[in-house]
Amino acid sequence: MAADPVTSTAGAHLADAPDAEGAVAPVQEAFDGNARLFERAQRRIPGGVNSPVRAYRSVGGAPRFIRRASGPYVYDAEDREYVDLVASWGPALLGHGNPAVVAAVKAAADRGLSFGAPTEGEVELAELVHERVHRDGRSPIERLRLVSTGTEATMTAVRLARGATDRPLIVKFAGHYHGHSDGLLADAGSGVATLALPSSAGVPAEIAAQTLVLPYNDESALRLAFERHPGRIAAVITEAAAANMGVVAPDAGFNRVLVDVAHAHGALVILDEVLTGFRVHAGGWWALDPAGAVDVDLIAFGKVIGGGLPLAALGGRASVMDLLAPLGPVYQAGTLSGNPLAVAAGLATLRAADDAVYARVDAAADRVVAAVTGALSEAGVQHAIGRAGNLFSVAFGLTAPPRDYDEVRAQEAWRHAPFFHALLEQGVSLPPSVFEAWFLTAAHDDRALSRVEEALPAAARAAAAATPRA
Ligand code: PLP
Repeated sequence: MAADPVTSTAGAHLADAPDAEGAVAPVQEAFDGNARLFERAQRRIPGGVNSPVRAYRSVGGAPRFIRRASGPYVYDAEDREYVDLVASWGPALLGHGNPAVVAAVKAAADRGLSFGAPTEGEVELAELVHERVHRDGRSPIERLRLVSTGTEATMTAVRLARGATDRPLIVKFAGHYHGHSDGLLADAGSGVATLALPSSAGVPAEIAAQTLVLPYNDESALRLAFERHPGRIAAVITEAAAANMGVVAPDAGFNRVLVDVAHAHGALVILDEVLTGFRVHAGGWWALDPAGAVDVDLIAFGKVIGGGLPLAALGGRASVMDLLAPLGPVYQAGTLSGNPLAVAAGLATLRAADDAVYARVDAAADRVVAAVTGALSEAGVQHAIGRAGNLFSVAFGLTAPPRDYDEVRAQEAWRHAPFFHALLEQGVSLPPSVFEAWFLTAAHDDRALSRVEEALPAAARAAAAATPRA
Protein backbone atom coordinates (compact mmCIF):
# COMPACT_ATOMS: atom_id res chain seq x y z
CA MET A 1 0.00 0.00 0.00
CA ALA A 2 1.48 3.35 -0.97
CA ALA A 3 1.88 6.01 1.65
CA ASP A 4 -0.83 8.63 1.68
CA PRO A 5 0.96 11.88 0.88
CA VAL A 6 -1.30 13.81 3.20
CA THR A 7 -0.66 11.61 6.21
CA SER A 8 2.79 10.37 5.24
CA THR A 9 5.42 10.52 7.93
CA ALA A 10 8.23 10.00 5.48
CA GLY A 11 9.49 13.58 5.76
CA ALA A 12 12.48 13.68 8.10
CA HIS A 13 11.16 16.13 10.66
CA LEU A 14 7.74 14.44 10.77
CA ALA A 15 9.31 11.04 11.21
CA ASP A 16 11.35 12.49 14.07
CA ALA A 17 8.29 13.91 15.81
CA PRO A 18 7.23 12.00 18.96
CA ASP A 19 3.67 11.62 17.67
CA ALA A 20 4.08 11.49 13.94
CA GLU A 21 0.36 10.83 13.39
CA GLY A 22 -0.64 13.98 15.25
CA ALA A 23 2.16 16.07 13.76
CA VAL A 24 0.82 15.82 10.22
CA ALA A 25 -0.51 19.04 8.79
CA PRO A 26 -4.01 18.96 7.30
CA VAL A 27 -4.23 19.43 3.55
CA GLN A 28 -5.63 22.96 3.69
CA GLU A 29 -2.77 24.21 5.83
CA ALA A 30 -0.23 22.66 3.49
CA PHE A 31 -1.75 24.46 0.52
CA ASP A 32 -1.89 27.77 2.42
CA GLY A 33 1.84 27.51 3.08
CA ASN A 34 2.64 27.36 -0.61
CA ALA A 35 0.04 30.02 -1.35
CA ARG A 36 1.50 32.40 1.25
CA LEU A 37 4.98 31.96 -0.14
CA PHE A 38 3.65 32.53 -3.64
CA GLU A 39 2.02 35.79 -2.53
CA ARG A 40 5.32 36.99 -1.06
CA ALA A 41 7.23 35.82 -4.12
CA GLN A 42 4.96 37.71 -6.49
CA ARG A 43 5.69 40.95 -4.64
CA ARG A 44 9.44 40.73 -5.29
CA ILE A 45 9.98 38.26 -8.17
CA PRO A 46 8.30 38.68 -11.59
CA GLY A 47 5.41 36.21 -11.59
CA GLY A 48 6.76 34.78 -8.35
CA VAL A 49 9.15 32.46 -10.16
CA ASN A 50 12.61 32.46 -11.68
CA SER A 51 11.61 30.47 -14.77
CA PRO A 52 8.13 30.79 -16.31
CA VAL A 53 6.95 27.18 -16.49
CA ARG A 54 7.31 26.86 -12.70
CA ALA A 55 4.42 29.29 -12.26
CA TYR A 56 1.54 26.82 -12.83
CA ARG A 57 -0.02 29.31 -15.26
CA SER A 58 -1.46 26.59 -17.47
CA VAL A 59 -2.78 24.42 -14.62
CA GLY A 60 -3.74 27.09 -12.07
CA GLY A 61 -3.05 27.31 -8.35
CA ALA A 62 0.04 28.14 -6.34
CA PRO A 63 3.23 26.35 -7.28
CA ARG A 64 4.65 24.05 -4.66
CA PHE A 65 7.66 25.66 -3.02
CA ILE A 66 10.21 22.91 -2.59
CA ARG A 67 12.19 22.83 0.61
CA ARG A 68 14.20 19.67 0.03
CA ALA A 69 14.40 16.56 -2.12
CA SER A 70 15.62 13.03 -1.65
CA GLY A 71 15.77 10.12 -4.10
CA PRO A 72 12.52 10.10 -6.11
CA TYR A 73 10.75 12.54 -3.76
CA VAL A 74 10.42 16.28 -3.32
CA TYR A 75 9.02 17.91 -0.16
CA ASP A 76 7.16 21.19 -0.23
CA ALA A 77 6.97 24.10 2.20
CA GLU A 78 4.63 22.08 4.46
CA ASP A 79 6.80 18.97 4.17
CA ARG A 80 4.29 17.18 1.98
CA GLU A 81 5.98 14.43 0.06
CA TYR A 82 5.54 14.06 -3.72
CA VAL A 83 6.85 11.44 -6.08
CA ASP A 84 8.79 13.72 -8.40
CA LEU A 85 8.32 13.26 -12.14
CA VAL A 86 10.03 16.56 -12.95
CA ALA A 87 13.55 15.72 -11.74
CA SER A 88 14.56 19.39 -11.92
CA TRP A 89 13.52 19.26 -15.61
CA GLY A 90 16.04 16.55 -16.33
CA PRO A 91 19.31 16.89 -14.42
CA ALA A 92 18.43 14.53 -11.55
CA LEU A 93 19.09 11.32 -13.51
CA LEU A 94 20.29 9.52 -10.38
CA GLY A 95 17.50 10.90 -8.20
CA HIS A 96 17.80 13.76 -5.74
CA GLY A 97 20.72 14.07 -3.34
CA ASN A 98 22.71 11.13 -4.67
CA PRO A 99 25.32 10.56 -1.93
CA ALA A 100 28.28 10.29 -4.32
CA VAL A 101 27.35 13.54 -6.06
CA VAL A 102 26.72 15.42 -2.81
CA ALA A 103 30.02 14.17 -1.37
CA ALA A 104 31.89 15.25 -4.49
CA VAL A 105 30.37 18.74 -4.33
CA LYS A 106 31.15 19.09 -0.62
CA ALA A 107 34.73 17.99 -1.18
CA ALA A 108 35.07 20.46 -4.05
CA ALA A 109 33.62 23.26 -1.92
CA ASP A 110 36.24 22.59 0.74
CA ARG A 111 38.92 23.19 -1.90
CA GLY A 112 37.44 26.53 -3.03
CA LEU A 113 34.34 27.77 -4.82
CA SER A 114 35.65 29.36 -7.99
CA PHE A 115 39.12 30.09 -9.33
CA GLY A 116 38.69 31.62 -12.77
CA ALA A 117 41.53 29.39 -13.91
CA PRO A 118 41.72 25.97 -15.58
CA THR A 119 41.32 22.91 -13.36
CA GLU A 120 42.08 19.20 -13.68
CA GLY A 121 38.37 18.43 -13.26
CA GLU A 122 37.55 20.26 -16.49
CA VAL A 123 40.09 18.15 -18.36
CA GLU A 124 38.67 14.97 -16.86
CA LEU A 125 35.15 15.98 -17.82
CA ALA A 126 36.15 16.74 -21.43
CA GLU A 127 37.89 13.36 -21.62
CA LEU A 128 34.93 11.58 -20.06
CA VAL A 129 32.42 13.11 -22.49
CA HIS A 130 34.68 12.17 -25.41
CA GLU A 131 34.76 8.56 -24.13
CA ARG A 132 31.04 8.27 -23.37
CA VAL A 133 29.68 9.80 -26.56
CA HIS A 134 31.04 7.06 -28.71
CA ARG A 135 29.64 4.72 -31.32
CA ASP A 136 31.10 2.46 -33.98
CA GLY A 137 34.60 3.33 -32.80
CA ARG A 138 34.34 7.10 -33.02
CA SER A 139 33.26 10.11 -31.02
CA PRO A 140 31.80 13.34 -32.40
CA ILE A 141 33.28 15.17 -29.39
CA GLU A 142 36.86 16.01 -30.30
CA ARG A 143 36.76 19.19 -28.21
CA LEU A 144 34.51 20.37 -25.39
CA ARG A 145 33.97 23.89 -24.03
CA LEU A 146 32.15 24.21 -20.69
CA VAL A 147 29.54 26.89 -20.11
CA SER A 148 26.91 27.37 -17.40
CA THR A 149 23.54 26.88 -19.13
CA GLY A 150 22.07 25.11 -22.12
CA THR A 151 21.11 28.54 -23.48
CA GLU A 152 24.77 29.52 -23.61
CA ALA A 153 25.72 26.22 -25.25
CA THR A 154 23.28 26.59 -28.15
CA MET A 155 23.87 30.34 -28.46
CA THR A 156 27.60 29.70 -28.78
CA ALA A 157 26.98 26.88 -31.25
CA VAL A 158 25.02 29.23 -33.48
CA ARG A 159 27.74 31.90 -33.34
CA LEU A 160 30.37 29.29 -34.08
CA ALA A 161 28.42 27.94 -37.06
CA ARG A 162 28.08 31.45 -38.46
CA GLY A 163 31.76 32.11 -37.85
CA ALA A 164 32.74 28.84 -39.52
CA THR A 165 30.59 29.32 -42.62
CA ASP A 166 30.40 33.11 -42.87
CA ARG A 167 26.67 32.72 -43.49
CA PRO A 168 23.81 34.44 -41.62
CA LEU A 169 20.80 32.10 -41.47
CA ILE A 170 19.89 29.38 -39.00
CA VAL A 171 17.23 26.70 -39.53
CA LYS A 172 15.30 25.45 -36.52
CA PHE A 173 12.16 23.36 -36.15
CA ALA A 174 8.82 24.55 -34.81
CA GLY A 175 8.29 23.40 -31.23
CA HIS A 176 11.98 22.81 -30.58
CA TYR A 177 13.39 24.72 -27.62
CA HIS A 178 17.04 25.67 -27.53
CA GLY A 179 17.07 28.09 -24.62
CA HIS A 180 16.16 31.75 -24.60
CA SER A 181 18.74 33.49 -26.78
CA ASP A 182 17.12 35.96 -29.18
CA GLY A 183 17.50 34.10 -32.44
CA LEU A 184 16.31 30.75 -31.10
CA LEU A 185 13.07 31.84 -29.46
CA ALA A 186 10.88 31.56 -32.54
CA ASP A 187 8.20 28.84 -32.20
CA ALA A 188 10.04 27.44 -29.22
CA GLY A 189 7.66 24.95 -27.60
CA SER A 190 6.97 24.20 -23.92
CA GLY A 191 7.18 27.37 -21.80
CA VAL A 192 6.40 29.53 -24.78
CA ALA A 193 3.60 27.22 -25.95
CA THR A 194 2.17 27.04 -22.46
CA LEU A 195 2.04 30.78 -22.21
CA ALA A 196 0.62 30.96 -25.74
CA LEU A 197 3.23 33.50 -26.83
CA PRO A 198 3.99 33.24 -30.54
CA SER A 199 7.55 34.29 -29.82
CA SER A 200 8.99 36.85 -27.41
CA ALA A 201 8.72 40.59 -27.21
CA GLY A 202 12.10 42.24 -27.24
CA VAL A 203 13.50 40.23 -30.12
CA PRO A 204 14.18 42.66 -33.00
CA ALA A 205 12.55 41.65 -36.26
CA GLU A 206 15.95 41.78 -37.95
CA ILE A 207 17.23 39.09 -35.60
CA ALA A 208 14.10 36.92 -35.85
CA ALA A 209 14.42 37.12 -39.64
CA GLN A 210 17.77 35.31 -39.43
CA THR A 211 15.99 32.17 -38.17
CA LEU A 212 13.97 29.99 -40.54
CA VAL A 213 11.42 27.88 -38.67
CA LEU A 214 10.40 24.65 -40.40
CA PRO A 215 7.91 21.92 -39.54
CA TYR A 216 9.65 19.01 -37.78
CA ASN A 217 10.06 15.68 -39.53
CA ASP A 218 9.39 17.30 -42.88
CA GLU A 219 12.14 16.42 -45.32
CA SER A 220 10.69 18.35 -48.23
CA ALA A 221 10.40 21.58 -46.17
CA LEU A 222 14.06 21.17 -45.29
CA ARG A 223 15.13 20.68 -48.91
CA LEU A 224 13.01 23.64 -49.98
CA ALA A 225 14.60 25.91 -47.36
CA PHE A 226 18.06 25.16 -48.74
CA GLU A 227 16.86 25.64 -52.34
CA ARG A 228 15.33 29.02 -51.45
CA HIS A 229 18.39 30.31 -49.56
CA PRO A 230 21.39 29.02 -51.47
CA GLY A 231 24.71 29.65 -49.71
CA ARG A 232 23.04 31.54 -46.85
CA ILE A 233 22.22 28.88 -44.24
CA ALA A 234 24.97 28.48 -41.63
CA ALA A 235 23.44 25.60 -39.69
CA VAL A 236 20.45 23.49 -38.89
CA ILE A 237 19.84 23.18 -35.16
CA THR A 238 17.64 20.35 -33.95
CA GLU A 239 16.79 18.74 -30.66
CA ALA A 240 18.30 15.26 -30.95
CA ALA A 241 14.80 14.02 -30.15
CA ALA A 242 12.29 16.76 -29.50
CA ALA A 243 11.11 16.89 -25.89
CA ASN A 244 9.96 20.47 -25.33
CA MET A 245 6.61 20.17 -27.13
CA GLY A 246 5.95 16.94 -25.35
CA VAL A 247 8.16 14.17 -26.64
CA VAL A 248 8.30 13.86 -30.43
CA ALA A 249 11.02 11.54 -31.63
CA PRO A 250 12.52 12.15 -35.06
CA ASP A 251 11.09 9.90 -37.77
CA ALA A 252 13.39 6.96 -38.43
CA GLY A 253 16.36 8.35 -40.33
CA PHE A 254 15.22 11.99 -40.18
CA ASN A 255 18.37 13.14 -38.37
CA ARG A 256 20.46 11.37 -41.01
CA VAL A 257 18.60 13.08 -43.87
CA LEU A 258 18.98 16.38 -42.08
CA VAL A 259 22.75 15.95 -41.86
CA ASP A 260 23.00 14.82 -45.49
CA VAL A 261 20.97 17.76 -46.79
CA ALA A 262 22.76 20.34 -44.61
CA HIS A 263 26.22 19.07 -45.50
CA ALA A 264 25.37 18.85 -49.19
CA HIS A 265 24.69 22.59 -48.99
CA GLY A 266 27.77 23.45 -46.96
CA ALA A 267 25.84 24.05 -43.72
CA LEU A 268 26.66 22.63 -40.28
CA VAL A 269 24.41 20.58 -38.02
CA ILE A 270 24.00 21.42 -34.33
CA LEU A 271 22.50 18.59 -32.33
CA ASP A 272 20.88 19.89 -29.16
CA GLU A 273 21.25 17.17 -26.53
CA VAL A 274 20.75 19.51 -23.57
CA LEU A 275 17.75 17.46 -22.51
CA THR A 276 18.44 14.03 -24.04
CA GLY A 277 22.22 13.93 -23.49
CA PHE A 278 23.30 11.39 -20.84
CA ARG A 279 19.61 10.89 -20.01
CA VAL A 280 18.23 8.55 -22.65
CA HIS A 281 21.53 6.67 -22.96
CA ALA A 282 25.15 6.93 -21.76
CA GLY A 283 25.94 8.59 -25.10
CA GLY A 284 22.67 10.51 -25.48
CA TRP A 285 20.21 10.23 -28.36
CA TRP A 286 23.16 10.41 -30.77
CA ALA A 287 24.29 6.99 -29.53
CA LEU A 288 20.79 5.57 -29.07
CA ASP A 289 19.22 6.64 -32.39
CA PRO A 290 17.90 3.44 -34.00
CA ALA A 291 18.87 4.85 -37.41
CA GLY A 292 22.55 4.89 -36.41
CA ALA A 293 25.03 7.61 -35.50
CA VAL A 294 24.86 10.74 -37.61
CA ASP A 295 27.74 12.92 -38.63
CA VAL A 296 26.89 16.10 -36.72
CA ASP A 297 29.31 18.98 -36.32
CA LEU A 298 28.41 20.34 -32.90
CA ILE A 299 26.52 18.93 -29.91
CA ALA A 300 25.10 21.00 -27.05
CA PHE A 301 24.86 19.40 -23.61
CA GLY A 302 23.25 20.57 -20.38
CA LYS A 303 21.14 19.28 -17.50
CA VAL A 304 22.53 15.80 -16.61
CA ILE A 305 26.11 16.84 -17.43
CA GLY A 306 25.95 19.19 -14.41
CA GLY A 307 24.24 16.73 -12.09
CA GLY A 308 21.99 19.51 -10.73
CA LEU A 309 24.51 22.36 -10.71
CA PRO A 310 24.77 25.05 -13.38
CA LEU A 311 26.89 23.40 -16.04
CA ALA A 312 26.47 22.86 -19.75
CA ALA A 313 28.83 22.29 -22.65
CA LEU A 314 29.38 22.61 -26.34
CA GLY A 315 31.35 19.90 -28.08
CA GLY A 316 32.19 18.78 -31.55
CA ARG A 317 34.54 18.58 -34.44
CA ALA A 318 38.01 20.01 -33.73
CA SER A 319 38.08 21.94 -37.00
CA VAL A 320 34.99 23.89 -35.91
CA MET A 321 35.56 24.04 -32.14
CA ASP A 322 39.08 25.40 -32.59
CA LEU A 323 37.57 28.52 -34.14
CA LEU A 324 36.65 29.53 -30.58
CA ALA A 325 38.77 32.10 -28.76
CA PRO A 326 41.60 31.97 -27.78
CA LEU A 327 42.54 29.86 -30.82
CA GLY A 328 40.14 31.35 -33.31
CA PRO A 329 38.10 34.45 -34.11
CA VAL A 330 34.76 33.38 -32.54
CA TYR A 331 34.46 34.91 -29.09
CA GLN A 332 32.95 33.11 -26.12
CA ALA A 333 33.75 33.38 -22.41
CA GLY A 334 32.34 32.96 -18.90
CA THR A 335 33.39 34.01 -15.38
CA LEU A 336 31.92 30.84 -13.88
CA SER A 337 32.44 28.51 -16.86
CA GLY A 338 33.76 25.19 -15.61
CA ASN A 339 32.98 26.13 -12.01
CA PRO A 340 34.71 23.52 -9.84
CA LEU A 341 31.59 22.59 -7.84
CA ALA A 342 29.55 22.12 -11.00
CA VAL A 343 32.33 20.11 -12.62
CA ALA A 344 32.56 17.91 -9.53
CA ALA A 345 28.79 17.29 -9.63
CA GLY A 346 28.94 16.51 -13.35
CA LEU A 347 31.88 14.14 -13.05
CA ALA A 348 30.32 12.28 -10.12
CA THR A 349 26.98 12.03 -11.95
CA LEU A 350 28.45 10.72 -15.19
CA ARG A 351 30.74 8.28 -13.37
CA ALA A 352 27.76 6.89 -11.43
CA ALA A 353 25.53 6.71 -14.52
CA ASP A 354 26.45 3.21 -15.66
CA ASP A 355 24.43 0.72 -17.69
CA ALA A 356 22.51 -0.38 -14.60
CA VAL A 357 21.35 3.19 -14.01
CA TYR A 358 20.02 3.51 -17.56
CA ALA A 359 18.34 0.09 -17.28
CA ARG A 360 16.56 1.26 -14.10
CA VAL A 361 15.41 4.55 -15.65
CA ASP A 362 14.21 2.73 -18.79
CA ALA A 363 12.32 0.13 -16.72
CA ALA A 364 10.74 2.86 -14.57
CA ALA A 365 9.62 4.69 -17.72
CA ASP A 366 8.15 1.46 -19.17
CA ARG A 367 6.21 0.89 -15.97
CA VAL A 368 4.79 4.42 -15.80
CA VAL A 369 3.90 4.42 -19.51
CA ALA A 370 2.01 1.13 -19.04
CA ALA A 371 0.20 2.54 -16.01
CA VAL A 372 -0.74 5.81 -17.76
CA THR A 373 -1.97 4.02 -20.85
CA GLY A 374 -3.95 1.56 -18.74
CA ALA A 375 -5.55 4.23 -16.54
CA LEU A 376 -6.47 6.56 -19.42
CA SER A 377 -7.86 3.70 -21.52
CA GLU A 378 -9.90 2.44 -18.56
CA ALA A 379 -11.32 5.95 -18.09
CA GLY A 380 -12.11 6.21 -21.80
CA VAL A 381 -9.64 9.02 -22.53
CA GLN A 382 -8.30 8.94 -26.07
CA HIS A 383 -4.57 9.59 -25.93
CA ALA A 384 -1.21 8.86 -27.53
CA ILE A 385 2.18 8.51 -25.89
CA GLY A 386 5.13 10.29 -27.50
CA ARG A 387 8.34 8.52 -26.61
CA ALA A 388 12.11 8.77 -27.13
CA GLY A 389 14.00 6.26 -25.00
CA ASN A 390 13.06 6.79 -21.35
CA LEU A 391 11.49 10.19 -22.11
CA PHE A 392 7.78 10.28 -22.82
CA SER A 393 4.70 12.48 -22.64
CA VAL A 394 0.95 12.12 -22.98
CA ALA A 395 -0.96 13.78 -25.82
CA PHE A 396 -4.65 13.87 -24.95
CA GLY A 397 -7.21 13.30 -27.68
CA LEU A 398 -4.78 12.09 -30.35
CA THR A 399 -4.92 8.66 -31.96
CA ALA A 400 -1.23 8.53 -32.85
CA PRO A 401 1.90 10.16 -31.39
CA PRO A 402 2.31 13.63 -32.88
CA ARG A 403 5.09 14.14 -35.44
CA ASP A 404 5.27 17.93 -35.46
CA TYR A 405 4.19 21.03 -33.57
CA ASP A 406 0.87 21.42 -35.42
CA GLU A 407 -0.12 17.90 -34.42
CA VAL A 408 1.04 18.55 -30.85
CA ARG A 409 -1.14 21.65 -30.67
CA ALA A 410 -4.18 19.77 -32.01
CA GLN A 411 -4.44 17.77 -28.78
CA GLU A 412 -6.98 18.31 -26.00
CA ALA A 413 -4.50 20.18 -23.84
CA TRP A 414 -7.31 21.27 -21.47
CA ARG A 415 -7.44 17.76 -20.06
CA HIS A 416 -4.01 18.25 -18.52
CA ALA A 417 -4.89 20.66 -15.66
CA PRO A 418 -7.39 18.39 -13.88
CA PHE A 419 -5.16 15.37 -14.56
CA PHE A 420 -2.18 17.24 -13.10
CA HIS A 421 -4.04 18.44 -9.99
CA ALA A 422 -5.56 15.02 -9.28
CA LEU A 423 -2.04 13.58 -9.29
CA LEU A 424 -0.67 16.43 -7.18
CA GLU A 425 -3.39 15.95 -4.57
CA GLN A 426 -2.34 12.32 -4.33
CA GLY A 427 1.32 13.21 -3.92
CA VAL A 428 2.60 12.86 -7.47
CA SER A 429 4.30 15.88 -9.03
CA LEU A 430 4.05 16.04 -12.80
CA PRO A 431 5.40 18.83 -15.02
CA PRO A 432 2.74 21.57 -14.91
CA SER A 433 2.51 21.71 -18.70
CA VAL A 434 1.22 19.17 -21.18
CA PHE A 435 4.08 20.22 -23.47
CA GLU A 436 6.77 18.78 -21.22
CA ALA A 437 8.32 15.36 -20.91
CA TRP A 438 7.87 13.22 -17.80
CA PHE A 439 11.20 12.53 -16.10
CA LEU A 440 12.04 9.31 -14.31
CA THR A 441 15.21 8.72 -12.33
CA ALA A 442 17.25 5.72 -11.22
CA ALA A 443 15.92 6.36 -7.70
CA HIS A 444 12.29 5.68 -8.65
CA ASP A 445 11.93 2.42 -6.75
CA ASP A 446 8.93 0.16 -6.29
CA ARG A 447 7.43 2.30 -3.53
CA ALA A 448 7.56 5.46 -5.63
CA LEU A 449 6.31 3.77 -8.80
CA SER A 450 3.46 2.06 -6.94
CA ARG A 451 2.39 5.46 -5.65
CA VAL A 452 2.22 6.73 -9.22
CA GLU A 453 0.30 3.65 -10.35
CA GLU A 454 -2.22 4.03 -7.54
CA ALA A 455 -2.73 7.74 -8.22
CA LEU A 456 -3.28 7.43 -11.97
CA PRO A 457 -6.83 6.01 -12.13
CA ALA A 458 -8.36 9.00 -10.27
CA ALA A 459 -6.30 11.40 -12.41
CA ALA A 460 -7.49 9.65 -15.57
CA ARG A 461 -11.10 9.99 -14.40
CA ALA A 462 -10.48 13.72 -13.80
CA ALA A 463 -9.08 14.02 -17.33
CA ALA A 464 -12.13 12.17 -18.67
CA ALA A 465 -14.50 14.56 -16.87
CA ALA A 466 -12.66 17.68 -18.12
CA THR A 467 -14.32 20.12 -20.49
CA PRO A 468 -12.60 22.65 -22.77
CA ARG A 469 -12.00 26.00 -21.13
CA ALA A 470 -13.71 28.93 -22.79
N1 PLP B 1 17.98 23.00 -25.21
C1 PLP B 1 17.07 22.12 -24.79
C2 PLP B 1 16.72 20.95 -25.66
C3 PLP B 1 16.45 22.28 -23.56
O1 PLP B 1 15.53 21.41 -23.16
C4 PLP B 1 16.80 23.40 -22.76
C5 PLP B 1 16.14 23.64 -21.46
O2 PLP B 1 15.13 23.09 -21.13
C6 PLP B 1 17.77 24.28 -23.25
C7 PLP B 1 18.36 24.06 -24.47
C8 PLP B 1 18.18 25.49 -22.43
O3 PLP B 1 18.90 25.07 -21.31
P1 PLP B 1 19.00 26.02 -20.02
O4 PLP B 1 17.63 26.06 -19.41
O5 PLP B 1 20.02 25.35 -19.16
O6 PLP B 1 19.44 27.35 -20.50
